[in-house]
Amino acid sequence: MTKTTHSSPELPATTGPVFQPGDTGYDAEIAGFQTAYSHRPALVVGAMHAEDVRSAVEYAARHGLPVAVQATGHGLSVPAEGGVLINTRRMTDIRIDASARTARVAAGVQAGALIEAAVAHGLAPLNGSSDTVGVVGYTLGGGIGLLAREFGYAAEHVRSIEMVTADGRVRRLAPGDELFAAVLGTGGNFGVVTALELELVPVTTVYGGQLRFDGPLVERALEAWRLWTGEVPEQLTSAITMMDIPDIPQMPEAVRGRYVATVAIAFTGSPEEGERLVAPLRAVGPRLVDDLRVMPYLDTHAIHSDPPQPHPYTSFNALLSDLPADATDAFLEAARPESGLPVIAGFRHLGGALSRRGSAGIAVDHRQARYVARAIAMPGPDNAEMVDERLADVVKTVSPWTIGHNLNFLYGGPAQAGAEQTRAGYDDGAYDRLVALKSTYDPRNLFRYNRNIQHG
Ligand SMILES: Cc1cc2nc3c(=O)[nH]c(=O)nc-3n(C[C@H](O)[C@H](O)[C@H](O)COP(=O)(O)OP(=O)(O)OC[C@H]3O[C@@H](n4cnc5c(N)ncnc54)[C@H](O)[C@@H]3O)c2cc1C
Repeated sequence: MTKTTHSSPELPATTGPVFQPGDTGYDAEIAGFQTAYSHRPALVVGAMHAEDVRSAVEYAARHGLPVAVQATGHGLSVPAEGGVLINTRRMTDIRIDASARTARVAAGVQAGALIEAAVAHGLAPLNGSSDTVGVVGYTLGGGIGLLAREFGYAAEHVRSIEMVTADGRVRRLAPGDELFAAVLGTGGNFGVVTALELELVPVTTVYGGQLRFDGPLVERALEAWRLWTGEVPEQLTSAITMMDIPDIPQMPEAVRGRYVATVAIAFTGSPEEGERLVAPLRAVGPRLVDDLRVMPYLDTHAIHSDPPQPHPYTSFNALLSDLPADATDAFLEAARPESGLPVIAGFRHLGGALSRRGSAGIAVDHRQARYVARAIAMPGPDNAEMVDERLADVVKTVSPWTIGHNLNFLYGGPAQAGAEQTRAGYDDGAYDRLVALKSTYDPRNLFRYNRNIQHG
């Protein structure tokens, strides 16, 4: 490790640590939630605050080095080979303004820490399913939250952005700025965000949890969920996942070693109304798990029970305009455990407020999508290509209803982060406008280790 509190001709002047390959601490610094692969930068800056970020970007720009950013590694797409990696995980400052119902979060804040800070004021952020995901990375990708159908994309609730652009300038952006709109929905393409100011919502409890159905009921559960999502109010957001649960002690005994369908539900109305709403799902048959209850917002990470430990994963998705029975039948058939490599296959219910655009005109597109289909797998060291092909085959079954991809839910390397996938994340015409802005604000494509908006 090299620590510089002074300016050195070879290294950026930062108060946070700087690592080069071979240094003790380099491997720990590049490690993230995704373990299938990682960044291999020539230099890692462990940024402590915005000035460290500015210094690292300015250094990289001066030396013509590309820049990667990592907070947690959940959303690693294009790994850096050389260049400068800015690790933001030490930037954990959170400031809540309860009367304004806002939070200012620094670049390294994880969802769980923000939830904890917000609930202390009777408020909640618009976080997603996992409490270890980075708030900034999630929001820059749009952010489909637990309460997404009621409140819309998390990115629609950003009040201001503090960031460092490729010219080394520190900028504070607000709705109305063209860069503000472009940054929200494009990941790290336009610079390194040092802080976001976010709206919080006055939600203290949720009626939610899981219903889990055993193998013989999976097909019926999926059909019931499909029909049910056509009826439920916007205050209810849900997802269904079909998967083979590994037969390992870390898994709950009730589902271990079984093929199950899990419906994850979050509803902000009254518990009585919640009970009434879920009756058609319970009518499918006996549940292996039925833990629907009123829970404090602090406990809502249990709704999806995402794995907390780092692991290898890869995934494709498709945003769907509709979900007829033909689509669920074909998708389920292709993802069945007996047909090859195990796949975690599922749908999230979209629509509601996700379909409505705010006035800032942010770069989150395909608002007519009513569902997102997802296929996830865990590649081993030697079968990455086979896994990608299998996932692509599963997602292909819903191509007649596919209108594009969600960029947050594409996990994996180059196969999931190519120019074609990135373009498919946006509406026709929108991508070309983003390309023009990219050539203005990042003409040398300094910020290229992401789902890259390419120009020239
Ligand atoms: C288990 C799991 C659950 C998830 N659940 C949801 C969900 O419910 N809803 C949803 O919408 N998404 C979800 N995601 C996707 C997640 O939001 C994205 O992967 C997101 O990019 C993760 O951000 P991060 O900072 O944690 O990851 P990182 O890998 O650290 O960052 C991902 C990318 O975000 C960009 N980025 C991060 N920080 C900055 C910054 N300060 N400035 C500029 N760019 C930056 C960079 O391009 C970076 O490569 C989930 C992912 C996982 C693995």
